[in-house]
This record gives sequence, structure tokens and C-alpha cells, in this order.
Amino acid sequence: MAQPVSNIFRDSLRNNDEFTITYELVPGRGSGGKRLEKILQLAELARDDGRIKALSITDNPGGHPALSPISLGLDILAMGISPLLHFSLKDKNRNLAESQLFECHRHDLLNLLVLGGDFPRYGFQGQAMPVFDLDSTQLLTLIEQLRHNFTVTRGAPGQAMDLPRMDFFAGCVVSPFKTLESEQVWQYVKLLTKIQCGAQFVISQLGYDIVKYQELIQFINEQQLRIPVLANLFVPSLAVARIMNKGLVPGVILPDALLQKMEDEAKSSDRGEEARLLRAARMLAALRETGYSGIHLGGNNLSFKSISFILDKSEDFTEKTDQAETHFPEPGTWYLYQTSCRTPRKRTLPFLFSSNHFIHKQIFAEKGLFFSIARKLSIKALSNSFLSRTYTLVEHLIKKILFHCRMCGDCTLAESSYLCPQSGCPKKMINGPCGGSNNGYCEVYPNKRLCFWVRSYHRGLEPDCHTIHSPKPIPPKDWSLDKTSSWLNYFSGRDHCELQVKKKKAEY
Ligand code: SF4
Repeated sequence: MAQPVSNIFRDSLRNNDEFTITYELVPGRGSGGKRLEKILQLAELARDDGRIKALSITDNPGGHPALSPISLGLDILAMGISPLLHFSLKDKNRNLAESQLFECHRHDLLNLLVLGGDFPRYGFQGQAMPVFDLDSTQLLTLIEQLRHNFTVTRGAPGQAMDLPRMDFFAGCVVSPFKTLESEQVWQYVKLLTKIQCGAQFVISQLGYDIVKYQELIQFINEQQLRIPVLANLFVPSLAVARIMNKGLVPGVILPDALLQKMEDEAKSSDRGEEARLLRAARMLAALRETGYSGIHLGGNNLSFKSISFILDKSEDFTEKTDQAETHFPEPGTWYLYQTSCRTPRKRTLPFLFSSNHFIHKQIFAEKGLFFSIARKLSIKALSNSFLSRTYTLVEHLIKKILFHCRMCGDCTLAESSYLCPQSGCPKKMINGPCGGSNNGYCEVYPNKRLCFWVRSYHRGLEPDCHTIHSPKPIPPKDWSLDKTSSWLNYFSGRDHCELQVKKKKAEY
């Protein structure tokens, strides 16, 4: 029986004897035109060549509107090549995400790359509203449930109904190319969380530092994670390299040394074309030796002839590749296995953290001094609307002053070192950072505002560079709690806390 087209990619990735190659397509704005024609021509050539096992399709890249990956994915599938759809969360809430998952499954679009996505930028008559209702860990959890046992909960339309299993193959992304300890440790923590939530493969961020690529594989091995990892190998034109070098592509670092090399190469008669393709071929060979399961190739204006040239030439570089062509470190970069952790094992915690932590424990931990009284008061407040309103007002006043609280009703302050992600993180990430920070700065406010999770790292106890482990993922916020008292919700079992989530499920 012929292998289903959608499975070509997963079968290749699960085959230890095969080095899987994927190529990234970037659809533009509009439903047709020359750009799309070029993409479809390239897809046909890739299909006929047979070495590329999946064509990945970006989802509104750069935060701009573009042709939907589902639409292009259907064309690619019809051609007989596996599509790998980027499934980002910047533009869709959980219900649209679930609905699109049904659509993908119905059309046999089963390979998904789950990611938060770039912060929305330009759109129709202005900047689009960022959504980020779920983060990548939460969407992976939803997909994992759809794969195994998704039961529509009681109270919802179609209640107590089991959905037929949906055999998705979902992966996640991670960046090993962060320059600061705080950013890098968080990336690995979040990777562990994503895998815990059901990621079945990993694709790295693009980069140009072979030692960082090696670090990711070493980390995966050290953690004994049996998961295939693809290295993202992007071949930029000189114009794009200049943009990347300025830090204008979220989460991407292209060091000065590489840009200078490309500027010099551009003086040749072919404007540096062969040199950049040969460098990519060398990098591919080096990555193959490093232990990656494959590569995720990309590049702007790459023809299939150029892609083929890279794949052919990479076969010539089988020996240990010259690091002069593959190692372009960003000066001052922190390496997990080469640089010692700057954070001492016994840190002196900032007063703001330790005082908040102490008070939090006394009130909200079951063994805390004031837990019983706080719970009794809360339960009383629930049955008295005046008391409830007063209670909510007091919470709002205290937390507005101390934490810039937005009264989301499901407080996660304790999980982010007593900094509020609803007011401090533009993407409102509650399970660790996205991949967009650059040199410690937030993707949305480059060189102006530190990443929320970098601040959290320096302020609190977790995570720790000495022992990287995954915390328990926080489920999505229940927005019916918005503008209500998180204290009342905590004590009445309506927020995300473990004991109470169980209780909530029982009541729902
Ligand atoms: S209740 Fe929500 S908005 Fe308020 S501090 Fe906690 S996390 Fe932030």
C-alpha cells in the first residue's frame, strides 16, 4: 500500500538511518500572483527531486497578513509532498485554533509546527490586535488530547462526547542562540515544558554558531530526550543579512563577522552567490556530523537549483568541517557547557522577591500561618455581595500599586517571581518566554525594555542554570474570571492551582 503523503515527513524523521530535509516556504499577501507561482514551481521541482521530505509553510510571518498555510498546504499535499504547517497563536484565540485543527485533520494536514509567533505588526488600516490566548505549551496540550482522548467536558455543547482521535504530528521550536544566561536557560526550560506537553519533534531557531548548534544536541542527550531535532539552516541574501544584523528579525542573531564576510564576498562577479551557498553546504555537513536528525532549510530568493547545489555540495564535506565557515559567535555569548553559570548557587534574593514570597506562603500555602483565616474570610465573602465587592476592591488596590495588576482573576504572580505577566509581557506569556528576545531585550521593545522573563530570572529562585528542569505547565486562563478577585477564585477553587483545578473539573 502506498505511504500516505502526509506521513512521508514523520516516517523520515522517525527513521534513524535517514537525514531528513525540509524546506521553508513563505507565502505572501494575496491569493495568487507571481510569488505564489514561484513557490508552486519550486514545490513541483522538490517533489520530483525527492530529497526534501516536507515543505514547511509559514503562518503570517513577521506578524503580517499572508496567504493561510492551510490553503497552500492543500496545494502542496495534492502535489504529493508532505506539508509542514506552521501553527502560530498570535492571531487566533483557542476556539479558532481548535477549529483550524479540525480543518487540518479533515484535510490530512497532520504535520504542525506549533509556535507563539511574531508580535502582530502591520495589518489592514493599522496594527493588528495581538491575541496569544494560548501559548505553545497549551496548544501542544490541546493537540496531545486530540491525539489521544479529547472529551468535551460537561456543561459545554456536545458535552461528555469523545472526539475521534486525530493523528497529528506536532513539533515545537527552541533557540539555542540566546546570548545571555537568563534567556538561554529559559529557552531550555521551555523546551522541556513543550516536550512534556506533547511535542514530537523539535526545530531550532536559525543561527550561525556551530557551537550553539552542538550545545542543543548535547542538552537533548544529557536530558535523555528521545526526540528528533532538526537544525534550522537559513541562507540569507546580503540585504536580509544586513536586516538580521541590525536585530530587526525577532530572536535572530547574525554577527558582525559574518556580515563583514558577506560584504567582502559580494564584491565578486557573482555577488557572493556561490560563497553563501558553499557556506550553507559546509554548515549542513557539520550539522549532520553533530547528531541532528535533519535540517530545516530556508532562504530568501533561493531557487531550487541553489537548494540542489547546497544538498549536492554538502556531500563533499564529510570530514570535520572547517569552523571558520560555520562558527560565527556573537561576542560575549553565554554557552551552557563552556561558560560557568553567573548566577551563584546560593543567591541573595532581592528584597521584593523574598518579602512577597514570604507573605504569599503565609496566606496561600496550606501550611501558612494565615491560610485558614484567609480561606474562611474568602468563603464568607462569596455569599455576601457587599463583602465580595469590598474584598475585590482591596485586592485591586494592593495589587495595582505593587504589581500593576490587571485583575485577570487567575493570578500567576508566584510563578514569575512576583512580576505580573499580564501587564509586563506584551504577549502575556505565562509559561516562560517566547523566542523573540534579542540580547535580553523584548522583541516588542528592542533595546528599550528587558524581556519580562529575563527580569523574572534575575529576581527569583527558578529556573536555575545549575539544574535545568521543567516546571508544571500552567493551563490557559479562564477568561470568565476576568476582572474578578483572584484571591476569591483561588480559595474557591476556580483558578489554575492543581488541587483546585481537580475540584473545578469535578464541579464543571
Ligand atoms: S491577577 Fe492576573 S493581572 Fe493581576 S497580578 Fe495576578 S497575573 Fe497579573
